Amino acid sequence: MKKRANILLLYTGGTIGMVKDYESGVLKAFDFEELIKNIPEIAQLDCDLEGVSFETPIDSSNMGPAYWVEIAALLEKNYDAFDGFVVLHGSDTMSYSASALSFMLENLTKPVIFTGSQLPIGDLRTDAKENLITSIQIASLLENGNSVIQEVCLYFEYKLYRANRTTKISAEHFEAFTSPNYPPLVESGVHLTVHRDYLFKNSEVGNFKVHSAMSDSVGILKLFPGLNCSFLSAVLNTPDLKVLVMETYGAGNAPMDEWFLEELKATLDRGIHIINVTQCSGGSVAMGQYETSEALLKLGLVNGKNLTTEAAITKAMFLLGLSVSDSDFKRIFETSLRGEMH
Ligand code: ASP
Repeated sequence: MKKRANILLLYTGGTIGMVKDYESGVLKAFDFEELIKNIPEIAQLDCDLEGVSFETPIDSSNMGPAYWVEIAALLEKNYDAFDGFVVLHGSDTMSYSASALSFMLENLTKPVIFTGSQLPIGDLRTDAKENLITSIQIASLLENGNSVIQEVCLYFEYKLYRANRTTKISAEHFEAFTSPNYPPLVESGVHLTVHRDYLFKNSEVGNFKVHSAMSDSVGILKLFPGLNCSFLSAVLNTPDLKVLVMETYGAGNAPMDEWFLEELKATLDRGIHIINVTQCSGGSVAMGQYETSEALLKLGLVNGKNLTTEAAITKAMFLLGLSVSDSDFKRIFETSLRGEMH
């Protein structure tokens, strides 16, 4: 007999579980039981479902490493008992959380699918039902007793993406996320089409492991024409900074001013790693392709290749948490760990 999947639903907060307070017009969190009551269709799903909720659900603008650790601990505690996990999360920082969890969870052989919505579940035109129901269906896909999806993903508006490839692109459209450098893993139409060639395959399947140390000695700097030396210097001299993700232009290019390169050099000499990622929404860093990136290559910046900023910053937090040595940091950072870059 075909095995029926059992899925754990974790509500962390966000619009999906909110109702409007019609007096003030403000969206506020409501109880997880209510969420289920709002979607009677859930009873028709061919899986067993259990739900847990953050004690105090949060707007995802309040997300951070302490909550990621809480999510990871919950997944670890329930890992053996369930076939798949759906994490309901506000869309604002969902790509950060989902990227972080992709690094924190090693040797996953079950799906962890983040989803949310642009409109609350009770809204007449809500996108929450489709996002939630299809996420649960995808998390329930089993083949010979094993989960078809074995990685951290993000589902939104008919597409399942690899989590650490995603970025939020719209504060308004139902199609709020994209994965600029990696195709969708599953597309939902009349049928669920699984693009098997794109699924993450663990090269060696060791035991499932949760890494809970995430460092916050990190920062992001976006370059812009007119960036001045005192601002740059203040950022680079931030106390306790260990990794800076620098969003450069195009294929990893930056100004060639002497003061700029000297500031970067002094920072690298202090043992701080600088990651070069592009501020373009798609494409890759290719240091050395232009004169304006050659100096960065020579200085020894870490090549962020086609990482999203979300994946770059969470990967940095993760590797610092692992206490990777300074001499190994660049090599490991430039290696794909969870299919986050190529
Ligand atoms: N501000 C909300 C949040 O990220 C938006 C959403 O739920 O999509 O928690």
